[in-house]
Amino acid sequence: MARGYDPAMGPGRIVICGAGAIGASVAWFLTRRGERPVIVDRAHPAAAASGRAAGFLASDWSAGTPLDALSRASFALHRELADELGAERLGYRPMQALMTAAADEGDLERYRRLPNPDWLDGNVVAHEDIGGIATTAQVDPLRFTTSLVGSAVDRGAELVTGVVDGLAFEGPGGAVSGVSIDGALRPADIVVLALGPWTSRAQRWLALPQVFGTKSASIVLGAELPAQAVFSEFVGRDRQRSTIEMYPRSGGLVYVAGHPEHGSLPDDPGEIVPSDAACEELHRVAGVHASALRDAAIVARSACYRPLTVDGVPLIGPVPGAPGAFLATGHASWGILNAPATGRMVAEMILDGSSQSLDATPFALERLPAGRI
Ligand SMILES: Cc1cc2nc3c(=O)[nH]c(=O)nc-3n(C[C@H](O)[C@H](O)[C@H](O)COP(=O)(O)OP(=O)(O)OC[C@H]3O[C@@H](n4cnc5c(N)ncnc54)[C@H](O)[C@@H]3O)c2cc1C
Repeated sequence: MARGYDPAMGPGRIVICGAGAIGASVAWFLTRRGERPVIVDRAHPAAAASGRAAGFLASDWSAGTPLDALSRASFALHRELADELGAERLGYRPMQALMTAAADEGDLERYRRLPNPDWLDGNVVAHEDIGGIATTAQVDPLRFTTSLVGSAVDRGAELVTGVVDGLAFEGPGGAVSGVSIDGALRPADIVVLALGPWTSRAQRWLALPQVFGTKSASIVLGAELPAQAVFSEFVGRDRQRSTIEMYPRSGGLVYVAGHPEHGSLPDDPGEIVPSDAACEELHRVAGVHASALRDAAIVARSACYRPLTVDGVPLIGPVPGAPGAFLATGHASWGILNAPATGRMVAEMILDGSSQSLDATPFALERLPAGRI
């Protein structure tokens, strides 16, 4: 056990920092086991990537990587959560996935392997079915994350708005004894850092492996399309290649992403915005694929940062040298998919002393060098 967890600890002694999909999932699985943690976010639940992502889920796309078991387990948990909390509430639905090739100009027929779905009526050819309803699905990430936090609060968790700006430690072992929120110390025995790309800020208080953020723009278009996600290799007029992803959602919306952007991570997630040029290019390229998207209005523009580790594998587990501190971050492009299984693992690490449901070895922090700033 990372630190003597005492079942008689009482409410509020477990503090989860960050109310993205990962922090929300940790809170949900802790409350399912009767704990009453505190969830702290500087803004609000799903304020960052967890409210702005696509929400696509794939059970077996990590086959052959250290994430395989995590992704399969988490995909199954998403279905269980939809059964328990309501598919409509989470925006959950199975969907198909298709790989296509598209271009501003030129005949693409030599790349065709499949007939196009009717709605893909632009200069695009279907290449491969890459997911069916048994293995690919989606949630609305905003609804998913806020529902988990809401459900955890209904079961006794406390949601606090404030900036986590420090940790307190005590004793010769340097165990966690509190969390500073807006400069006020709150006593705690267990602290879970689920700060997404902001994890590097916590290197002021703890020695942690590096976590980076990579920014992407996205738009939401108003169009009613079938539940078919499209991953497209696109060649522009300037011969530049890019990838664009289109995810129809229920309720007549289509989420479109794929445009990387540059920029340093601001402290406040509300300040993360896309450039107009990126949004216009996403709309234009989506329109090359489908007239329904070309003619659709943009109903939302957004940007967010994926939390990335040096080796591309999440960091899930106790922080070495800081008993009571846990890290859950670095889920890159699959943080919505892998949130439930991560939340369940962290709850087990805290309450049972180790992850019972999955082998946590691939995610251990010890595998990467740790540093402070
Ligand atoms: C364009 C795009 C599309 C994506 N599509 C998918 C997809 O289809 N499927 C998928 O599985 N994943 C997808 N992802 C990845 C996914 O969004 C992320 O991996 C996931 O949201 C990360 O969740 P998180 O909880 O770790 O971090 P975040 O969502 O970033 O949450 C971190 C939280 O910490 C809070 N915080 C930060 N600092 C402090 C502080 N000092 N004090 C208090 N609170 C603080 C922030 O306010 C924020 O709410 C996508 C990402 C992007 C950018």
